[in-house]
Amino acid sequence: MTHHHARVLTPEEYLFTEEPYYEPLGEEIAVFEAAYRNGLPVLLKGPTGCGKTRFMEHMAWRLQLPLITVSCHDDLTASDLVGRFLVRGGETIWVDGPLARAVRNGSICYLDEVVEARKDTTVVIHPLADDRRVLPMEKVGELLEAPPEFCLAMSYNPGYQSVLKDLKQSTRQRFVALEFDYPDAALEQKIVEKESGIDSQMARQLVKFARMTRNLKGQGLDEGASTRLLVHAAKLMVADVSPVIACRSAIAQALTDDSDMLSAVNELSASLF
Ligand code: ADP
Repeated sequence: MTHHHARVLTPEEYLFTEEPYYEPLGEEIAVFEAAYRNGLPVLLKGPTGCGKTRFMEHMAWRLQLPLITVSCHDDLTASDLVGRFLVRGGETIWVDGPLARAVRNGSICYLDEVVEARKDTTVVIHPLADDRRVLPMEKVGELLEAPPEFCLAMSYNPGYQSVLKDLKQSTRQRFVALEFDYPDAALEQKIVEKESGIDSQMARQLVKFARMTRNLKGQGLDEGASTRLLVHAAKLMVADVSPVIACRSAIAQALTDDSDMLSAVNELSASLF
């Protein structure tokens, strides 16, 4: 646990100089920009692999702001976000966490899968997510005031909802929420083609396959194949892996460990390719 805390990355590393490819699903770009201009934090809701991270990269590029992404996990504490004292060469120094760095530098801080984080993290997010826009840094006895450029965004997958891991009303009602979902078939095909270089015929079949697996959600699968998995399979195919093997490795095995479900999913792909 200790060594990764010592890794210090500068926000500049995340300044995109080239446009990250993103196909809008609706009005999300305009809504995000309007929220940003008004200092409102944004919540991206939707299943995994449907473009939320890519959208954030695209928005960071549009707004010309550095993007700091934090992948939340169940060990993530408020200190991981805010910062801590570290001993460096015999000296004790304060090292900002990614959230403090983003606030200080006026960057975008994107908390990915925020419900995974420990409950004390919401305590530090709340005063940043309302019109106070301050980050309490308890350990140094400071309140860090966010400049207008600072942007707080987080993602949340309502599909994984459980009693333990749900977003509290007091948290969610601070955010402007954008809904993400799998794109319609034509758009998803275009994304798969662009991301992998696969031909349109194969991309169309992959999308068809994905939609079949999405119909199995709740019938043995927690989630169907995401756009991300289609892109993975397509990349394997472009690298000359046969379609059936590509679907098995990049999609079926990524979806489940259950042998009956695996055969069912593999049968679906065998029927298409
Ligand atoms: P999430 O953050 O929702 O889990 P990602 O943003 O990482 O998902 O998306 C996974 C991959 O799917 C991306 O790397 C990209 O290849 C592709 N993708 C999904 N949606 C889009 C989109 N709207 N435009 C461009 N690429 C997309």
